[in-house]
Amino acid sequence: MTNDLKTYDLVVMGGGPAGVIAATEASRFGKSVALVDSHQEIGGAGINTGTVPSKTLRETALALSGLKSRNLYGVDLSLRREVTVADFLGHEERVKDAFHASITQRLQVLKATTYCGTSSFLDAHTIQVNLGSEDGEKDPCALGGGVRLELFSGAALRGDAVLVAAGRQSNTAKLGLEKVGVKTGERGIIPVNEHFQTNIENIYGAGDVIGFPALASTSMEQARRAVRHALGLGGSPISPLLPNGIYTIPEVSMVGETEESLKKKGVAYIVGRANYWENARGRIIGDQDGFLKLLFRQDDLKLIGVHVLGDLATEVVHIGLVAMMCNASANLFVDACLNLPSLGMLYKTAALNALQNVPP
Ligand SMILES: Cc1cc2nc3c(=O)[nH]c(=O)nc-3n(C[C@H](O)[C@H](O)[C@H](O)COP(=O)(O)OP(=O)(O)OC[C@H]3O[C@@H](n4cnc5c(N)ncnc54)[C@H](O)[C@@H]3O)c2cc1C
Repeated sequence: MTNDLKTYDLVVMGGGPAGVIAATEASRFGKSVALVDSHQEIGGAGINTGTVPSKTLRETALALSGLKSRNLYGVDLSLRREVTVADFLGHEERVKDAFHASITQRLQVLKATTYCGTSSFLDAHTIQVNLGSEDGEKDPCALGGGVRLELFSGAALRGDAVLVAAGRQSNTAKLGLEKVGVKTGERGIIPVNEHFQTNIENIYGAGDVIGFPALASTSMEQARRAVRHALGLGGSPISPLLPNGIYTIPEVSMVGETEESLKKKGVAYIVGRANYWENARGRIIGDQDGFLKLLFRQDDLKLIGVHVLGDLATEVVHIGLVAMMCNASANLFVDACLNLPSLGMLYKTAALNALQNVPP
């Protein structure tokens, strides 16, 4: 058994969406970074078991079932033979492989060092890494910067700052947090402040380990902010406007206020609606039921809520999200020249509809 002590500006424990973004962000600014993940395949639940695989399987199901072609062309373009499990899983494997390759390449280009092993705290600045993957993979696997450590070696990494990004609930139990006095709450969730700092100032938490909303999208933004604060890189606080997306068929997505929340707050609002079936692109793609609903504050017609149900709702919502971040009003959509045919045009239709609904 060999021991090896290496020193970094930042050590990231966990290579899911939070950890990968943390490592790339710090490396981009020339900081030395070690990223440790207990699995051979970096990416965590985001790439390996959750976000991306589930949406890829959804897309495959849509394609192989020929669901859309039946509605659109009146013919069934689905496979005439039995679809096998291999058919079904093939695309998911290829998508995951592409992600693994691009993440590994990005980390290599940025000179971040990647270790495959289970990490735990020795003290607030020292992380122990037991090399070898949880999947039982026995090859030494320092993937990133050419560092090679023998398997079963007791590698130790020292860092000025440490980011814990090891996923949900019980994953925090094996991190040795108690050794360094990092407090945990219910289900092992780590409380953090607005900078994503734990109660130990050089140890940060981001992603599922800190609890709600526990999404890949938010985890990445939290990690970026945590790293910037830890390494004194500046930057703005995380936006309070967090979109929600549900990848059902059809998709559902929203950001900002709901009619219920506005009623509770006593805020007067105007609703503007647009239906997919009245929109040229909506008609072309055959979405009969989709709609966009915009909520504008009655006083100044500022956009304060966006709700979409229909094809690509999780994409369409982003137009409204960005408009809300820019404090835009209904006139922005009325004035903008938009592509035709496009689902983006739903915004113009809904804004015009809202203007018609303004009380005299
Ligand atoms: C089925 C499913 C669908 C989802 N769909 C979406 C979606 O559509 N949109 C969305 O935004 N989010 C979605 N999520 C949530 C999203 O996957 C997670 O919020 C996100 O992956 C959290 O990222 P993370 O980096 O915090 O943790 P994780 O992705 O869990 O990564 C943690 C990593 O840490 C490693 N690790 C754990 N302990 C140690 C240790 N001691 N040492 C070294 N490494 C360690 C693990 O191996 C893992 O790779 C979904 C989740 C699931 C399960």
